[in-house]
Amino acid sequence: MNNKYELVIGLEVHAQLLTASKLFCGDSTTFGAEPNTQVSPVSLAHPGTLPVMNEKVIELAVRLGLALNCTIVQDNYFARKNYFYPDLPKGYQVSQHTAPICLGGHLPIQTSEGKKNVQLNRIHMEEDAGKSLHDQDEKYTSIDLNRAGMPLLEIVTEPDLHSADEAYAYLTELRKLVRWLGVCDGNMEEGSMRCDANVSVRLKGATTLGTRVEVKNLNSIRNVKRAIEIEAERLIGIVEKGEQVIQQTRSFNADNNTTFALRSKEEADDYRYFPEPDLPPFFISDEYLQEIKAAMPALPAALQNKYISSYNLPEYDAAQLSNDKDDSDLFEAIIRHTTHYKAAANWMTVLKQYCSNAALPVSSFPLTAEKIATLINFTETGKVSFNAASTRILQELINSPEETPESIATQLNLVQESDESAIEAWVDEVIASMPDKVKEYRSGKKGLIGLFAGEVKKRSKGKADMQLTNKVLTEKLNN
Ligand code: ADP
Ligand code: MG
Repeated sequence: MNNKYELVIGLEVHAQLLTASKLFCGDSTTFGAEPNTQVSPVSLAHPGTLPVMNEKVIELAVRLGLALNCTIVQDNYFARKNYFYPDLPKGYQVSQHTAPICLGGHLPIQTSEGKKNVQLNRIHMEEDAGKSLHDQDEKYTSIDLNRAGMPLLEIVTEPDLHSADEAYAYLTELRKLVRWLGVCDGNMEEGSMRCDANVSVRLKGATTLGTRVEVKNLNSIRNVKRAIEIEAERLIGIVEKGEQVIQQTRSFNADNNTTFALRSKEEADDYRYFPEPDLPPFFISDEYLQEIKAAMPALPAALQNKYISSYNLPEYDAAQLSNDKDDSDLFEAIIRHTTHYKAAANWMTVLKQYCSNAALPVSSFPLTAEKIATLINFTETGKVSFNAASTRILQELINSPEETPESIATQLNLVQESDESAIEAWVDEVIASMPDKVKEYRSGKKGLIGLFAGEVKKRSKGKADMQLTNKVLTEKLNN
Protein backbone atom coordinates (compact mmCIF):
# COMPACT_ATOMS: atom_id res chain seq x y z
CA MET A 1 0.00 0.00 0.00
CA ASN A 2 1.19 3.52 -0.89
CA ASN A 3 2.62 4.75 2.42
CA LYS A 4 1.49 8.35 1.92
CA TYR A 5 -1.93 7.14 3.02
CA GLU A 6 -3.56 5.83 6.15
CA LEU A 7 -6.30 3.25 5.95
CA VAL A 8 -9.35 3.74 8.23
CA ILE A 9 -11.77 0.89 8.88
CA GLY A 10 -14.92 0.53 10.97
CA LEU A 11 -16.64 -2.86 11.23
CA GLU A 12 -20.31 -3.65 11.78
CA VAL A 13 -20.91 -7.24 12.91
CA HIS A 14 -24.31 -8.88 13.12
CA ALA A 15 -24.29 -11.82 15.52
CA GLN A 16 -27.30 -14.12 15.55
CA LEU A 17 -27.99 -15.12 19.13
CA LEU A 18 -27.99 -18.68 20.44
CA THR A 19 -31.50 -18.52 21.86
CA ALA A 20 -34.00 -21.34 21.38
CA SER A 21 -36.68 -18.98 20.09
CA LYS A 22 -36.94 -15.74 18.13
CA LEU A 23 -36.75 -12.20 19.51
CA PHE A 24 -40.48 -11.54 19.83
CA CYS A 25 -42.20 -14.94 19.47
CA GLY A 26 -41.73 -18.64 20.17
CA ASP A 27 -40.65 -19.74 16.67
CA SER A 28 -37.62 -22.03 16.67
CA THR A 29 -34.24 -20.62 15.63
CA THR A 30 -32.77 -23.97 14.48
CA PHE A 31 -30.63 -23.54 11.36
CA GLY A 32 -31.33 -25.43 8.15
CA ALA A 33 -35.05 -26.20 8.54
CA GLU A 34 -37.29 -26.42 5.45
CA PRO A 35 -38.12 -22.89 4.23
CA ASN A 36 -41.10 -21.23 5.90
CA THR A 37 -41.59 -23.86 8.60
CA GLN A 38 -40.55 -21.62 11.52
CA VAL A 39 -43.10 -18.91 10.85
CA SER A 40 -45.89 -18.27 13.33
CA PRO A 41 -48.44 -15.49 12.66
CA VAL A 42 -46.10 -13.11 14.54
CA SER A 43 -43.22 -13.81 12.15
CA LEU A 44 -45.65 -13.42 9.25
CA ALA A 45 -46.95 -10.12 10.67
CA HIS A 46 -50.60 -11.12 10.58
CA PRO A 47 -52.88 -8.29 11.67
CA GLY A 48 -53.56 -8.28 15.39
CA THR A 49 -50.43 -10.16 16.43
CA LEU A 50 -48.25 -8.64 19.12
CA PRO A 51 -44.56 -9.07 19.94
CA VAL A 52 -43.42 -10.47 23.30
CA MET A 53 -39.83 -9.77 24.38
CA ASN A 54 -37.50 -12.78 24.72
CA GLU A 55 -35.67 -12.04 27.98
CA LYS A 56 -32.74 -14.29 27.10
CA VAL A 57 -31.77 -11.81 24.37
CA ILE A 58 -31.29 -9.03 26.95
CA GLU A 59 -29.17 -11.35 29.08
CA LEU A 60 -26.90 -12.25 26.13
CA ALA A 61 -26.57 -8.60 25.08
CA VAL A 62 -25.54 -7.61 28.59
CA ARG A 63 -23.16 -10.53 28.89
CA LEU A 64 -21.35 -9.55 25.70
CA GLY A 65 -21.40 -5.88 26.71
CA LEU A 66 -19.75 -6.67 30.04
CA ALA A 67 -17.11 -8.85 28.37
CA LEU A 68 -16.32 -5.98 25.97
CA ASN A 69 -16.04 -3.39 28.75
CA CYS A 70 -19.08 -1.44 27.53
CA THR A 71 -21.29 0.84 29.57
CA ILE A 72 -24.63 -0.93 30.03
CA VAL A 73 -27.58 1.37 29.45
CA GLN A 74 -30.30 0.61 31.99
CA ASP A 75 -33.25 2.46 30.38
CA ASN A 76 -34.11 0.81 27.09
CA TYR A 77 -36.71 0.83 24.35
CA PHE A 78 -37.11 -0.45 20.80
CA ALA A 79 -37.84 1.63 17.71
CA ARG A 80 -39.34 0.89 14.32
CA LYS A 81 -37.12 1.30 11.30
CA ASN A 82 -39.57 1.64 8.44
CA TYR A 83 -38.80 0.42 4.94
CA PHE A 84 -40.43 -1.74 2.32
CA TYR A 85 -38.83 -4.95 1.21
CA PRO A 86 -40.49 -8.28 0.33
CA ASP A 87 -38.52 -10.20 2.99
CA LEU A 88 -39.77 -7.86 5.74
CA PRO A 89 -43.44 -8.77 6.27
CA LYS A 90 -44.20 -6.04 8.84
CA GLY A 91 -42.82 -3.27 6.65
CA TYR A 92 -40.54 -2.23 9.50
CA GLN A 93 -37.67 -3.72 11.47
CA VAL A 94 -37.81 -3.52 15.26
CA SER A 95 -34.39 -2.29 16.32
CA GLN A 96 -32.53 -0.44 19.07
CA HIS A 97 -30.60 1.46 16.44
CA THR A 98 -31.48 4.82 17.98
CA ALA A 99 -30.81 3.77 21.61
CA PRO A 100 -28.34 0.92 22.02
CA ILE A 101 -28.18 -1.24 25.14
CA CYS A 102 -24.35 -1.06 25.28
CA LEU A 103 -22.18 2.00 24.69
CA GLY A 104 -18.44 2.29 24.11
CA GLY A 105 -16.18 -0.51 25.23
CA HIS A 106 -13.15 -2.09 23.60
CA LEU A 107 -11.67 -5.40 22.50
CA PRO A 108 -7.93 -6.11 22.92
CA ILE A 109 -6.23 -7.55 19.83
CA GLN A 110 -2.70 -8.49 18.88
CA THR A 111 -1.06 -8.27 15.46
CA SER A 112 2.55 -8.34 14.29
CA GLU A 113 2.49 -4.58 14.98
CA GLY A 114 1.76 -5.21 18.67
CA LYS A 115 -1.19 -5.02 21.05
CA LYS A 116 -4.04 -2.54 20.97
CA ASN A 117 -7.59 -2.00 22.21
CA VAL A 118 -10.09 -1.63 19.38
CA GLN A 119 -12.60 1.01 20.45
CA LEU A 120 -16.26 0.11 20.10
CA ASN A 121 -19.10 2.48 19.38
CA ARG A 122 -22.08 0.39 20.54
CA ILE A 123 -23.93 -2.90 20.66
CA HIS A 124 -27.65 -2.95 19.97
CA MET A 125 -30.40 -5.57 19.68
CA GLU A 126 -32.56 -5.94 16.60
CA GLU A 127 -34.56 -8.50 14.65
CA ASP A 128 -33.40 -10.07 11.41
CA ALA A 129 -35.33 -9.97 8.13
CA GLY A 130 -36.23 -13.01 6.01
CA LYS A 131 -34.09 -14.22 3.16
CA SER A 132 -34.67 -13.54 -0.53
CA LEU A 133 -33.52 -16.39 -2.75
CA HIS A 134 -32.88 -15.21 -6.28
CA ASP A 135 -31.53 -18.46 -7.69
CA GLN A 136 -34.34 -20.93 -6.95
CA ASP A 137 -36.65 -20.05 -9.82
CA GLU A 138 -36.16 -18.64 -13.32
CA LYS A 139 -38.90 -16.03 -13.12
CA TYR A 140 -39.48 -15.36 -9.44
CA THR A 141 -37.58 -14.50 -6.31
CA SER A 142 -38.40 -16.93 -3.48
CA ILE A 143 -38.70 -15.80 0.12
CA ASP A 144 -37.80 -17.85 3.21
CA LEU A 145 -39.15 -16.21 6.35
CA ASN A 146 -37.59 -18.64 8.84
CA ARG A 147 -34.99 -15.98 9.56
CA ALA A 148 -37.53 -13.17 9.98
CA GLY A 149 -37.55 -12.10 13.62
CA MET A 150 -34.34 -13.90 14.60
CA PRO A 151 -32.53 -12.08 17.42
CA LEU A 152 -29.38 -10.20 16.43
CA LEU A 153 -26.78 -8.11 18.18
CA GLU A 154 -25.10 -5.50 16.04
CA ILE A 155 -21.60 -4.77 17.29
CA VAL A 156 -20.16 -1.56 15.81
CA THR A 157 -16.57 -0.35 16.14
CA GLU A 158 -15.32 3.20 15.98
CA PRO A 159 -13.31 3.94 12.81
CA ASP A 160 -10.36 2.67 14.81
CA LEU A 161 -8.83 -0.09 12.68
CA HIS A 162 -5.96 0.77 10.35
CA SER A 163 -5.06 -2.37 8.43
CA ALA A 164 -6.62 -5.50 7.00
CA ASP A 165 -4.57 -7.47 9.56
CA GLU A 166 -6.14 -5.52 12.43
CA ALA A 167 -9.61 -6.21 11.03
CA TYR A 168 -8.70 -9.90 10.77
CA ALA A 169 -7.44 -10.01 14.37
CA TYR A 170 -10.50 -8.12 15.65
CA LEU A 171 -12.96 -10.50 13.99
CA THR A 172 -11.02 -13.55 15.16
CA GLU A 173 -11.06 -12.30 18.76
CA LEU A 174 -14.70 -11.26 18.58
CA ARG A 175 -15.75 -14.64 17.19
CA LYS A 176 -13.79 -16.41 19.91
CA LEU A 177 -15.52 -14.28 22.54
CA VAL A 178 -19.11 -14.70 21.29
CA ARG A 179 -18.58 -18.46 21.12
CA TRP A 180 -16.98 -18.49 24.54
CA LEU A 181 -19.92 -16.65 26.10
CA GLY A 182 -22.52 -18.82 24.34
CA VAL A 183 -23.84 -15.68 22.64
CA CYS A 184 -23.47 -16.76 18.98
CA ASP A 185 -22.02 -19.77 17.16
CA GLY A 186 -19.83 -17.43 15.09
CA ASN A 187 -20.42 -19.36 11.89
CA MET A 188 -19.83 -16.87 9.08
CA GLU A 189 -20.41 -19.42 6.30
CA GLU A 190 -23.94 -20.11 7.54
CA GLY A 191 -24.48 -16.40 8.06
CA SER A 192 -24.98 -16.52 11.82
CA MET A 193 -22.16 -13.99 12.10
CA ARG A 194 -22.01 -11.37 9.33
CA CYS A 195 -19.68 -8.46 8.81
CA ASP A 196 -19.86 -5.22 6.83
CA ALA A 197 -16.60 -3.35 6.40
CA ASN A 198 -16.52 0.44 6.16
CA VAL A 199 -13.30 1.58 4.50
CA SER A 200 -11.78 4.97 3.75
CA VAL A 201 -8.32 6.38 3.13
CA ARG A 202 -6.73 9.70 4.07
CA LEU A 203 -3.30 11.28 3.93
CA LYS A 204 -1.18 10.32 6.90
CA GLY A 205 -1.47 12.93 9.61
CA ALA A 206 -4.90 14.13 8.41
CA THR A 207 -7.45 14.48 11.20
CA THR A 208 -10.72 14.36 9.24
CA LEU A 209 -12.06 11.11 7.85
CA GLY A 210 -12.11 10.37 4.14
CA THR A 211 -15.31 9.39 2.32
CA ARG A 212 -16.10 5.75 3.08
CA VAL A 213 -17.39 2.79 1.16
CA GLU A 214 -19.25 -0.03 2.88
CA VAL A 215 -18.50 -3.56 1.66
CA LYS A 216 -21.09 -6.30 2.18
CA ASN A 217 -21.38 -10.04 1.50
CA LEU A 218 -18.25 -11.04 3.33
CA ASN A 219 -18.81 -14.63 4.41
CA SER A 220 -15.48 -15.39 6.08
CA ILE A 221 -12.89 -13.51 8.08
CA ARG A 222 -10.39 -14.11 5.30
CA ASN A 223 -12.74 -12.49 2.79
CA VAL A 224 -13.10 -9.41 5.02
CA LYS A 225 -9.32 -9.10 4.94
CA ARG A 226 -9.17 -9.57 1.16
CA ALA A 227 -11.98 -7.07 0.52
CA ILE A 228 -10.28 -4.42 2.68
CA GLU A 229 -6.99 -4.91 0.81
CA ILE A 230 -8.75 -4.51 -2.53
CA GLU A 231 -10.69 -1.44 -1.42
CA ALA A 232 -7.60 0.21 0.02
CA GLU A 233 -5.83 -0.06 -3.35
CA ARG A 234 -8.92 1.03 -5.28
CA LEU A 235 -9.56 4.08 -3.07
CA ILE A 236 -5.93 5.18 -3.17
CA GLY A 237 -6.03 4.85 -6.96
CA ILE A 238 -9.02 7.21 -7.08
CA VAL A 239 -7.41 9.77 -4.76
CA GLU A 240 -4.08 9.61 -6.64
CA LYS A 241 -5.90 10.45 -9.87
CA GLY A 242 -7.28 13.53 -8.13
CA GLU A 243 -10.83 12.19 -8.27
CA GLN A 244 -13.52 12.16 -5.57
CA VAL A 245 -14.48 8.97 -3.73
CA ILE A 246 -18.26 8.44 -3.87
CA GLN A 247 -19.92 7.14 -0.72
CA GLN A 248 -21.18 3.73 -1.78
CA THR A 249 -22.32 0.33 -0.68
CA ARG A 250 -20.29 -2.33 -2.50
CA SER A 251 -20.41 -6.10 -2.69
CA PHE A 252 -17.45 -8.47 -2.56
CA ASN A 253 -17.09 -11.15 -5.20
CA ALA A 254 -14.89 -13.90 -3.76
CA ASP A 255 -14.63 -15.71 -7.12
CA ASN A 256 -12.62 -13.00 -8.84
CA ASN A 257 -11.47 -10.99 -5.80
CA THR A 258 -13.19 -7.75 -6.77
CA THR A 259 -15.87 -5.47 -5.36
CA PHE A 260 -18.67 -3.81 -7.32
CA ALA A 261 -21.09 -0.99 -6.49
CA LEU A 262 -24.55 -1.93 -5.20
CA ARG A 263 -25.93 1.53 -4.48
CA SER A 264 -24.72 5.00 -3.64
CA LYS A 265 -25.60 6.75 -0.42
CA GLU A 266 -27.41 9.59 -2.20
CA GLU A 267 -30.29 7.16 -2.40
CA ALA A 268 -30.13 6.66 1.38
CA ASP A 269 -33.58 6.02 2.80
CA ASP A 270 -35.37 7.97 5.46
CA TYR A 271 -36.36 5.27 7.93
CA ARG A 272 -38.76 7.43 9.96
CA TYR A 273 -37.69 5.88 13.27
CA PHE A 274 -40.21 6.05 16.08
CA PRO A 275 -40.54 4.15 19.37
CA GLU A 276 -42.22 0.76 18.97
CA PRO A 277 -45.69 1.19 20.51
CA ASP A 278 -46.34 -2.56 20.91
CA LEU A 279 -43.37 -3.14 23.27
CA PRO A 280 -43.05 -1.38 26.61
CA PRO A 281 -39.73 0.25 27.45
CA PHE A 282 -37.70 -1.90 29.84
CA PHE A 283 -35.30 -1.20 32.67
CA ILE A 284 -32.23 -3.25 33.60
CA SER A 285 -32.00 -3.22 37.38
CA ASP A 286 -28.76 -3.23 39.36
CA GLU A 287 -29.72 -6.64 40.78
CA TYR A 288 -30.21 -8.10 37.31
CA LEU A 289 -26.85 -6.70 36.20
CA GLN A 290 -25.19 -8.23 39.26
CA GLU A 291 -26.80 -11.58 38.51
CA ILE A 292 -25.40 -11.62 34.98
CA LYS A 293 -21.97 -10.51 36.17
CA ALA A 294 -21.90 -13.28 38.77
CA ALA A 295 -22.71 -15.91 36.14
CA MET A 296 -19.98 -14.77 33.70
CA PRO A 297 -17.34 -17.39 32.95
CA ALA A 298 -13.64 -16.48 33.22
CA LEU A 299 -12.72 -14.83 29.91
CA PRO A 300 -10.08 -16.20 27.53
CA ALA A 301 -7.64 -13.33 28.05
CA ALA A 302 -7.71 -13.78 31.84
CA LEU A 303 -7.22 -17.55 31.54
CA GLN A 304 -4.32 -17.10 29.13
CA ASN A 305 -2.58 -14.82 31.65
CA LYS A 306 -3.25 -17.27 34.47
CA TYR A 307 -1.78 -20.19 32.48
CA ILE A 308 1.41 -18.23 31.91
CA SER A 309 1.86 -16.64 35.31
CA SER A 310 0.49 -19.32 37.66
CA TYR A 311 1.22 -22.55 35.75
CA ASN A 312 4.34 -21.42 33.94
CA LEU A 313 3.07 -22.58 30.56
CA PRO A 314 4.68 -21.30 27.35
CA GLU A 315 2.73 -18.52 25.64
CA TYR A 316 1.82 -20.82 22.74
CA ASP A 317 0.25 -23.45 25.00
CA ALA A 318 -1.60 -20.78 26.97
CA ALA A 319 -3.03 -19.31 23.78
CA GLN A 320 -4.08 -22.73 22.46
CA LEU A 321 -5.80 -23.67 25.72
CA SER A 322 -7.76 -20.43 25.88
CA ASN A 323 -8.98 -20.51 22.31
CA ASP A 324 -12.06 -22.54 23.00
CA LYS A 325 -14.13 -22.83 26.14
CA ASP A 326 -14.63 -26.61 25.88
CA ASP A 327 -10.85 -27.05 25.75
CA SER A 328 -10.13 -24.81 28.70
CA ASP A 329 -12.98 -26.37 30.71
CA LEU A 330 -11.46 -29.83 30.23
CA PHE A 331 -7.95 -28.57 30.98
CA GLU A 332 -9.17 -26.84 34.15
CA ALA A 333 -10.93 -30.02 35.24
CA ILE A 334 -7.78 -32.11 34.69
CA ILE A 335 -5.47 -29.82 36.59
CA ARG A 336 -7.73 -30.06 39.59
CA HIS A 337 -6.21 -33.56 39.92
CA THR A 338 -2.61 -33.08 38.79
CA THR A 339 0.09 -30.45 39.10
CA HIS A 340 1.90 -31.59 35.94
CA TYR A 341 0.60 -28.53 34.09
CA LYS A 342 2.85 -28.70 31.06
CA ALA A 343 2.19 -32.43 30.67
CA ALA A 344 -1.54 -31.77 30.97
CA ALA A 345 -1.25 -29.13 28.24
CA ASN A 346 0.55 -31.66 26.01
CA TRP A 347 -2.11 -34.24 26.74
CA MET A 348 -4.82 -31.83 25.62
CA THR A 349 -3.47 -32.21 22.08
CA VAL A 350 -3.90 -35.99 22.34
CA LEU A 351 -7.40 -35.72 23.81
CA LYS A 352 -8.51 -33.23 21.15
CA GLN A 353 -7.12 -35.44 18.39
CA TYR A 354 -9.03 -38.39 19.83
CA CYS A 355 -12.25 -36.35 19.84
CA SER A 356 -11.68 -35.08 16.35
CA ASN A 357 -11.15 -38.67 15.05
CA ALA A 358 -14.22 -39.90 16.91
CA ALA A 359 -16.29 -36.87 15.79
CA LEU A 360 -16.98 -36.04 19.45
CA PRO A 361 -17.07 -32.58 21.02
CA VAL A 362 -14.24 -32.13 23.53
CA SER A 363 -16.91 -31.61 26.20
CA SER A 364 -17.93 -35.29 25.75
CA PHE A 365 -14.49 -36.84 26.14
CA PRO A 366 -15.31 -40.39 27.29
CA LEU A 367 -13.11 -40.42 30.44
CA THR A 368 -13.48 -38.32 33.57
CA ALA A 369 -10.94 -35.57 34.14
CA GLU A 370 -9.80 -37.42 37.26
CA LYS A 371 -9.06 -40.58 35.28
CA ILE A 372 -7.15 -38.58 32.68
CA ALA A 373 -5.13 -36.95 35.46
CA THR A 374 -4.30 -40.40 36.89
CA LEU A 375 -2.95 -41.44 33.51
CA ILE A 376 -0.91 -38.24 33.26
CA ASN A 377 0.56 -38.73 36.74
CA PHE A 378 1.32 -42.37 35.99
CA THR A 379 3.14 -41.42 32.77
CA GLU A 380 5.05 -38.60 34.45
CA THR A 381 6.62 -41.00 36.98
CA GLY A 382 8.29 -42.76 34.05
CA LYS A 383 6.34 -46.02 34.55
CA VAL A 384 5.23 -45.98 30.91
CA SER A 385 6.36 -44.00 27.91
CA PHE A 386 4.22 -41.09 26.73
CA ASN A 387 3.89 -42.89 23.43
CA ALA A 388 2.45 -46.07 24.98
CA ALA A 389 0.22 -44.08 27.31
CA SER A 390 -1.21 -41.76 24.70
CA THR A 391 -2.03 -44.49 22.24
CA ARG A 392 -2.61 -47.95 23.72
CA ILE A 393 -3.33 -47.25 27.39
CA LEU A 394 -5.64 -44.33 26.65
CA GLN A 395 -7.68 -46.42 24.22
CA GLU A 396 -7.83 -49.40 26.62
CA LEU A 397 -8.94 -47.10 29.44
CA ILE A 398 -11.73 -45.79 27.27
CA ASN A 399 -12.77 -49.36 26.41
CA SER A 400 -12.65 -50.48 30.06
CA PRO A 401 -13.03 -47.44 32.29
CA GLU A 402 -13.14 -49.65 35.42
CA GLU A 403 -9.43 -50.47 34.91
CA THR A 404 -6.56 -48.25 36.07
CA PRO A 405 -3.61 -47.07 33.95
CA GLU A 406 -1.42 -49.32 36.09
CA SER A 407 -3.48 -52.49 35.61
CA ILE A 408 -3.66 -51.90 31.85
CA ALA A 409 0.07 -51.20 31.58
CA THR A 410 0.78 -54.45 33.40
CA GLN A 411 -1.64 -56.50 31.29
CA LEU A 412 -0.24 -55.08 28.05
CA ASN A 413 3.32 -55.49 29.29
CA LEU A 414 4.03 -51.79 28.83
CA VAL A 415 5.59 -50.99 32.19
CA GLN A 416 8.99 -49.47 31.53
CA GLU A 417 12.21 -50.56 33.16
CA SER A 418 13.20 -47.53 35.13
CA ASP A 419 15.54 -49.29 37.49
CA GLU A 420 18.84 -47.54 36.92
CA SER A 421 21.00 -50.63 37.45
CA ALA A 422 19.09 -52.61 34.81
CA ILE A 423 19.50 -49.76 32.36
CA GLU A 424 23.18 -49.45 33.16
CA ALA A 425 23.67 -53.13 32.35
CA TRP A 426 22.13 -52.71 28.88
CA VAL A 427 24.10 -49.52 28.28
CA ASP A 428 27.37 -51.28 29.21
CA GLU A 429 26.57 -54.12 26.81
CA VAL A 430 25.87 -51.73 23.97
CA ILE A 431 29.02 -49.68 24.59
CA ALA A 432 31.15 -52.82 24.71
CA SER A 433 29.65 -54.16 21.47
CA MET A 434 30.29 -51.05 19.35
CA PRO A 435 33.84 -49.84 20.06
CA ASP A 436 34.27 -48.11 16.67
CA LYS A 437 31.07 -46.13 17.01
CA VAL A 438 32.00 -45.18 20.56
CA LYS A 439 35.32 -43.81 19.29
CA GLU A 440 33.52 -41.76 16.63
CA TYR A 441 31.12 -40.44 19.25
CA ARG A 442 33.96 -39.45 21.57
CA SER A 443 35.73 -37.63 18.73
CA GLY A 444 32.67 -35.43 18.22
CA LYS A 445 29.95 -37.29 16.32
CA LYS A 446 27.37 -36.66 19.06
CA GLY A 447 24.47 -37.59 16.78
CA LEU A 448 25.37 -41.26 17.33
CA ILE A 449 23.61 -41.11 20.70
CA GLY A 450 20.40 -42.04 18.89
CA LEU A 451 21.99 -45.20 17.52
CA PHE A 452 23.13 -46.31 21.00
CA ALA A 453 19.74 -45.52 22.49
CA GLY A 454 18.09 -47.58 19.75
CA GLU A 455 20.33 -50.53 20.63
CA VAL A 456 19.38 -50.28 24.30
CA LYS A 457 15.73 -50.20 23.32
CA LYS A 458 16.21 -53.38 21.26
CA ARG A 459 18.03 -55.23 24.00
CA SER A 460 15.37 -54.25 26.55
CA LYS A 461 12.62 -55.35 24.13
CA GLY A 462 11.32 -51.80 24.16
CA LYS A 463 10.95 -51.60 27.92
CA ALA A 464 13.81 -49.31 28.87
CA ASP A 465 12.74 -45.87 30.08
CA MET A 466 14.25 -43.82 27.27
CA GLN A 467 14.69 -40.66 29.28
CA LEU A 468 16.75 -42.52 31.83
CA THR A 469 18.57 -44.43 29.08
CA ASN A 470 19.69 -41.20 27.47
CA LYS A 471 20.91 -39.85 30.78
CA VAL A 472 22.95 -43.00 31.57
CA LEU A 473 24.31 -43.20 28.01
CA THR A 474 25.49 -39.59 28.05
CA GLU A 475 27.19 -40.09 31.41
CA LYS A 476 29.02 -43.26 30.39
CA LEU A 477 30.01 -42.05 26.91
CA ASN A 478 31.38 -38.78 28.19
CA ASN A 479 33.59 -40.54 30.75
P1 ADP B 1 -24.36 3.47 9.11
O1 ADP B 1 -25.23 2.82 10.13
O2 ADP B 1 -25.04 4.44 8.22
O3 ADP B 1 -23.57 2.51 8.33
P2 ADP B 1 -22.59 4.33 11.27
O4 ADP B 1 -22.35 5.69 11.79
O5 ADP B 1 -23.33 3.40 12.13
O6 ADP B 1 -23.31 4.43 9.88
O7 ADP B 1 -21.16 3.74 10.93
C1 ADP B 1 -20.96 2.46 10.52
C2 ADP B 1 -19.51 2.08 10.65
O8 ADP B 1 -18.71 2.84 9.75
C3 ADP B 1 -18.90 2.29 12.01
O9 ADP B 1 -18.13 1.14 12.33
C4 ADP B 1 -17.99 3.48 11.83
O10 ADP B 1 -16.87 3.41 12.67
C5 ADP B 1 -17.56 3.32 10.40
N1 ADP B 1 -17.19 4.58 9.74
C6 ADP B 1 -17.86 5.75 9.74
N2 ADP B 1 -17.21 6.66 8.99
C7 ADP B 1 -16.11 6.05 8.49
C8 ADP B 1 -15.05 6.48 7.62
N3 ADP B 1 -15.00 7.68 7.09
N4 ADP B 1 -14.09 5.56 7.31
C9 ADP B 1 -14.14 4.32 7.81
N5 ADP B 1 -15.10 3.87 8.63
C10 ADP B 1 -16.09 4.72 8.96
MG1 MG C 1 -23.73 0.64 8.00
